[in-house]
Amino acid sequence: MIIDFHAHVWARDDAEEAMARECERHGVDKVCISGLASPVPDLDEVKRLNDRCYKAARDYPGLYLPFVYVNPLHGKAAMAELQRGRDQGAVGLKLWISCYCTHPSVFPIVERAMEWNWPVLQHSWHKVIGQYEGESDPLHVAELSRRYPEMKLVMAHFGGDWRYGLRAVRDCPGVIGDTSGSMTDNGLVEGWVRECGAERLIWGTDMPGADLLLTLSKVRDADISETDKALILGGNAARLLGI
Ligand SMILES: [Zn+2]
Repeated sequence: MIIDFHAHVWARDDAEEAMARECERHGVDKVCISGLASPVPDLDEVKRLNDRCYKAARDYPGLYLPFVYVNPLHGKAAMAELQRGRDQGAVGLKLWISCYCTHPSVFPIVERAMEWNWPVLQHSWHKVIGQYEGESDPLHVAELSRRYPEMKLVMAHFGGDWRYGLRAVRDCPGVIGDTSGSMTDNGLVEGWVRECGAERLIWGTDMPGADLLLTLSKVRDADISETDKALILGGNAARLLGI
C-alpha cells in the first residue's frame, strides 16, 4: 500500500480532483489531506479549510484521510475544532506556522491528539534566509518531542535542510521525517535511513504545490532495501494511522 502522508487542499480549486488523478496514474492508495492558507488563519478560514478536507474524504471514499488543521492560538475554539474534526472522521492533526510548536498554546492540542492516538504532522523548515514568524525549526520539533516522547510526531520536509533536520532530531526516537520538499539533494533518503532507520521516514509529497512523481521516484530509486522502501512508502503511515 502506498500512502502520501502530506498533501493539502491548497493553491487550486480543483486540488482534490487533480490529486486523485495523479494517485490513479501512479498507484497511490491513500492521501492524508489537510488545509493550509494564511500563516495565521482566523477561525472561519480554519473551519472552511477543514470542511473542504472532510468533503474530499466523502467525495473520494478510501482515498483521502483528513487531518485537522488548527491555529493553536485560538485556544478553546481550536480544541473544539479538533473535536469537530474527530466527529467528521479526521485521523490526525496538522500544525503549520501560526506559532512555534513549542508555544504553550500547542500543548493542550497535541495532548488531545495523543489521547486519541493521532499522529501530529508539524511543519518545519530551517532557512538560512530566516524563518517566517512562528515557523518551527527542527530544533523546536526536537524540543516538543523531548516534552512528549510518546507522541507520533512527523517533522515535515525533513526539516527543510535534511542534514540539519537529521542532526536536530536524530536522538528523538519519536520524530519521523517526511520526504516532502527538500527532494533534490542526492543521498537524502539513504542518509536518513542510515542514521535513523527506515521506520523513521515517511513518504509525503506536499501536493498540489509539489510534484508527486518526483518525490515518489526519490524513494523508489534510493539505494536502500525493498523492505525499507515499503516502510517509507506506506508501512510506516499505516502503522501511525492504525490501518
Ligand atoms: Zn505542507
